[in-house]
Amino acid sequence: MAEHEHVRVAVIGSGFGGLGAAVRLRREGITDFVVLERAGSVGGTWRDNSYPGCACDVPSHLYSFSFAPNPDWPRTFSGQPHIRAYLENVADTFGLRPHIRLDHEVRKMRWDSGELRWEIETAQGTLTADVVVSATGPLSDPKLPDVPGLDSFEGKVFHSAQWDHGYDLRGKRVAMIGTGASAIQIVPAIQPEAGRLTLFQRTPPWVMPRMDRAISGAERWLHGKVPFTAAARRRLLWSIRELQVSAFTKRPNELGLIESIGRANIGRSIKDPALRAKLTPSYRIGCKRILLSSSYYPALAQPNVDVVASGLQEIRGNTLVASDGTETEADVIIFGTGFHVTDMPIADRVVGADGATLAESWKDGMQSLRGATASGFPNWMTIIGPNTGLGNSSMILMIESQLSYLADYMRQLNVLGGRVALDPRPAAVDAWNVRVQERMKRTVWNTGGCTSWYLDANGRNTTIWPGTTAEFRKATRGVDLGEYAVVRAGADRPLVRQRTGDHDRVTEHGRGTADEQGRAAGQGRTGDQGRAADRESV
Ligand code: NAP
Repeated sequence: MAEHEHVRVAVIGSGFGGLGAAVRLRREGITDFVVLERAGSVGGTWRDNSYPGCACDVPSHLYSFSFAPNPDWPRTFSGQPHIRAYLENVADTFGLRPHIRLDHEVRKMRWDSGELRWEIETAQGTLTADVVVSATGPLSDPKLPDVPGLDSFEGKVFHSAQWDHGYDLRGKRVAMIGTGASAIQIVPAIQPEAGRLTLFQRTPPWVMPRMDRAISGAERWLHGKVPFTAAARRRLLWSIRELQVSAFTKRPNELGLIESIGRANIGRSIKDPALRAKLTPSYRIGCKRILLSSSYYPALAQPNVDVVASGLQEIRGNTLVASDGTETEADVIIFGTGFHVTDMPIADRVVGADGATLAESWKDGMQSLRGATASGFPNWMTIIGPNTGLGNSSMILMIESQLSYLADYMRQLNVLGGRVALDPRPAAVDAWNVRVQERMKRTVWNTGGCTSWYLDANGRNTTIWPGTTAEFRKATRGVDLGEYAVVRAGADRPLVRQRTGDHDRVTEHGRGTADEQGRAAGQGRTGDQGRAADRESV
């Protein structure tokens, strides 16, 4: 291989996950790292999603890093421009800019078993890294449905995450496809200017009122002067959501009361019984993501809006044909059809120790150890990996737990010393996933009578964490070396594992199990060093 740059850690992506990883690495005293970003600026999904009405449905004081509180959030639920600005500010405040490589899309990353490092091909050349932190996020690659005839459409077409701000919707016949979290924000924002707006609704969502308000100057002043008040506010928001979890995970029947609030929200704005019936979900609330809006139903009641309660099935010229046969003429199609979540394209670009891609390894469904590492992909870690999503709280809490795990992972590598890699043992990965899937059985996501992007092609829920954020924090506080095989430099053959009972054992090149190596290194099963640093507040 030609001469190239080598770094200790390559972080991929500069959204909340990637920037958070960069801050955490610096706090661990690691400065030999780069953040590879495919776009021309930081911000991830909060950079890409700039559609009209884009905002977060988790309160800002909870949807932000605990280590970077912002006393100046202008509203209880911030809009996309403020969240994007917050992330730019994090990049500046924590001195991340020198690490960030913009326009560096990662095309391939290959584990080099001989050198024990990742070889990373980017749009701007190749580099190597001891450790890869893949923070590309589940909401980064837009998904378009495979609708026959789309090529024949002569009008404008775009996805919610790739909004064409140069296109004027005024007076146009707009077809909005989908009724997810993005679409329900877009509809009220564009309805006043659209000539005619037709919403293609395959499944009605549960939409609850959104209690959004401006945060007063007095509150902001107080949060700035007495930071404890902002922390207390965050803790309250967090606690409320933690208390809701058991209804989602263990007692979905308790959610009936919430459904009545959702039905009242429809009834308040929709007086036409036929439209009300179309908009009323027939599955348990929470099975799909619960959406928040106080303007969605009022927009649907406007005379320039039609709801086609059926999916888009085919396009013939400028005519959109729904599954129920309804035909609609349109000038523009906006796809609010979500993202490749359980089939992330990045997985095709990761080639592990056996020469197989992560996508091949995950062909029967994504699975990882503690939402972070994947067997056969040594020293590769993902932020917001399998089963780390949330149905009702802030993803930033989960990201910060994963950052603690990353910090301990780096400490463990240092303690083991030399050229070394950790590869999760298949038995440990299996055990983790069996536990996760066992807990999943009673959850509303699996039993609520809907299909959603939480479930993969096999109907397995590989996206959501079936517990509280506190439980996940506990599970990721440190790396259990017993769950890993330690791979030492000098190995020139791919990993071969033997199953010995419920333990895997790496036999060649004098490599022992992680337990043995951890003991040899004078370590207990879990790294306790620096744990105090992991106990951030929520
Ligand atoms: P989504 O939740 O995956 O929704 C996609 C929508 O497209 C669904 O309503 C789906 O219908 C519909 N659809 C797919 N193919 C269709 C077809 N052929 N005809 C008609 N409808 C079709 O995508 P999203 O709304 O972009 O949201 C994705 C995620 O982004 C959210 O769940 C959330 O995590 C995040 N997000 C968050 C916020 C926030 O406020 N924090 C805002 C926006 C997005 P079915 O329901 O029948 O599948």
